[in-house]
Amino acid sequence: MDVQEKLSVLADAAKYDASCSSSGSKKTRPGKGLGSTEGGGICHSYTPDGRCISLLKILLTNHCIFDCKYCINRVSSDVKRARFTVDEVVKLTLDFYRRNYIEGLFLSSGIIRDSDYTMEQLIEVARVLRQDHSFRGYIHLKTIPGAADELVQKAGLYADRLSVNIELPTPADLQKLAPEKNRPQLENNMQQIEVKAQEIKEDRKKGLKSVPVYAPVGQSTQMIIGAMPTSDREILLTSTTLYSKFRLRRVYYSAFSPIPHADARLPGKSRR
Ligand code: SF4
Repeated sequence: MDVQEKLSVLADAAKYDASCSSSGSKKTRPGKGLGSTEGGGICHSYTPDGRCISLLKILLTNHCIFDCKYCINRVSSDVKRARFTVDEVVKLTLDFYRRNYIEGLFLSSGIIRDSDYTMEQLIEVARVLRQDHSFRGYIHLKTIPGAADELVQKAGLYADRLSVNIELPTPADLQKLAPEKNRPQLENNMQQIEVKAQEIKEDRKKGLKSVPVYAPVGQSTQMIIGAMPTSDREILLTSTTLYSKFRLRRVYYSAFSPIPHADARLPGKSRR
């Protein structure tokens, strides 16, 4: 499969993720280099299918070993699969940036091999862009559920924004529709990002030299609404808790989209 075909598959597969915005970003990384997160065009608008038009919004791969019922990319889904290499994503980002198509990259992924391996691949894309190509544009990385704490924290050294998808409003909803994920683990990932951000802030306050920039646009999350009959009260309670516990910049709400061959517990199917 050539890169263009991969792009068509993996940009389409990324359109279900609503948590893609770099609005309000100031220049975050010092020094000279390629790209900027500020200035005209950095406020984003969304296409009707949810894509943010000024970022290259793709998955590294839509292969996935998990079977989340609401997801078109789950292991049991019969969809066309593709996978970029790290170098392909780096090259695409730089090519699109130089043509002025984008201001940055939004990168997520299905889980290949295991969570740590996949997270390492996402981090490597961002690292190569920042360190080998001096890329100063915006990078939003999704963290991979179940990835090791140190990897989740490391991602913030290269990304402007990190996000951990909480996925569903309640732990019970998550258990029913995405049993391979669990709320404590997702919240722990959010906590690790917040801990690291605070550490770096303290180091800066102390005047330590060479303190790195760390996820300067903070963290966000996404909640799928409408896949389960959860009340508005519970949804808002979850959002409020997440905002206050982890100082999220934003909770995105993503309307559940019916998918082909969906699980019987999802809307549009008879409930078990
Ligand atoms: S882990 Fe992510 S990509 Fe994989 S099935 Fe679940 S939601 Fe989809």
